Amino acid sequence: MLKRCLFCGKEFNTNRSRQKFCCPEHQSKNNYLRSLRKLVIYPKNFCDLCGKTEDEVTLNEINEDQFWCDECLDYVNKLREDNDE
Ligand SMILES: [Zn+2]
Ligand SMILES: [Zn+2]
Repeated sequence: MLKRCLFCGKEFNTNRSRQKFCCPEHQSKNNYLRSLRKLVIYPKNFCDLCGKTEDEVTLNEINEDQFWCDECLDYVNKLREDNDE
């Protein structure tokens, strides 16, 4: 089945329904971010990727518990474009 990586947003093929990441590296990076996130109080007001807060940057909701700032969103979109080539 085709799934979308929760970390980079890239689509990948897997036959394991519980797999959420395209590669182990993204899984461990996501786990690291998750562990950081436990230290803060909800609702989230910082970027998942760079950690900047709402006061410094504009946050975009990626999914229900992922928020990225404009800068990181641009960066990830650029990476995705590069990968498409
Ligand atoms: Zn990924
Ligand atoms: Zn950011």
